[in-house]
Amino acid sequence: MKNHHDDDEEEEEEENVVGLPPCALKNFEEVLVEADNKEVLVFLDYDGTLSPIVTDPNKAYISEETRKAVLEVSTRFRTSIISGRSVDKVKNFVGLPHLFYAGSHGMDIEGPDVGISGQTTATGTTNRVKHRPEGLDQNEAAGARDELSERTAGIEGVTVEDNKFCCSVHFRNCKDPTSVDRVERIVREVSDERGLDVKRGRKVFEVRPRVTWNKGNALDYLMSVFEVTQKTGFPIYLGDDKTDEDAFAKLRELGCGRGVLVSTKVKPTQAHYSVKDPTEVLEFLRLLSRWGKSRDEPEGR
Ligand SMILES: [Mg+2]
Repeated sequence: MKNHHDDDEEEEEEENVVGLPPCALKNFEEVLVEADNKEVLVFLDYDGTLSPIVTDPNKAYISEETRKAVLEVSTRFRTSIISGRSVDKVKNFVGLPHLFYAGSHGMDIEGPDVGISGQTTATGTTNRVKHRPEGLDQNEAAGARDELSERTAGIEGVTVEDNKFCCSVHFRNCKDPTSVDRVERIVREVSDERGLDVKRGRKVFEVRPRVTWNKGNALDYLMSVFEVTQKTGFPIYLGDDKTDEDAFAKLRELGCGRGVLVSTKVKPTQAHYSVKDPTEVLEFLRLLSRWGKSRDEPEGR
């Protein structure tokens, strides 16, 4: 396994950031202090959270032990994966089909039947969770993706990834530092022309439609699907990148749950806690399962 902690966040961020939020492992009891008597919900980003950031985005595999830990957590708490990738791709990576998935930065949501009232069909077919924001058009991303692939084809180290409703332009493998500016110019031009949004992440430009929907909305939507409110639910969200900040912000707005930033670098964040890397995420998930077990099966009963 190869870790790339080097210069992932090359942009200088706002100055008034003093440090990372407190460690979620060292303060584990405190993270869960408000979760008592509430339904704990687990939301996990994929890249850089469950899997290490790797050179080839098509090889961002999750380790067997992490998969096992996610499975374990999902037997106690409703667990959702919220990723920038397409649902199919991230589902394939995680390999746990019973979870809830929100792909394309939360725009494309699907999951198993949760028995939503009024949605049972006469034929008894399962009513899987399925949601996309209104006005979402797959063709927008497809068009941009094709043009971006074409226009960046001559730049070494650039790959354009199809995320169904959005696309990612990866420049992690650009050896020539001047190509990043070229890539950015192309990405901004194409997106502007096509009325799409651009967000810069860890060595990637995320191009997505201008629908008002992000990972925070996906979290909110899934909570409503689970019929959980701020009073009855305790969502925990783990993520490492800028798009995850929308989910951290949502938790702040709702005034419930806790956000955990996965980072070794100090950066502005709305998360309440932090862990360093996917290895610490694994540790956190294990602690969470243990916590759930002791809650469900108190000693001496
Ligand atoms: Mg990520």
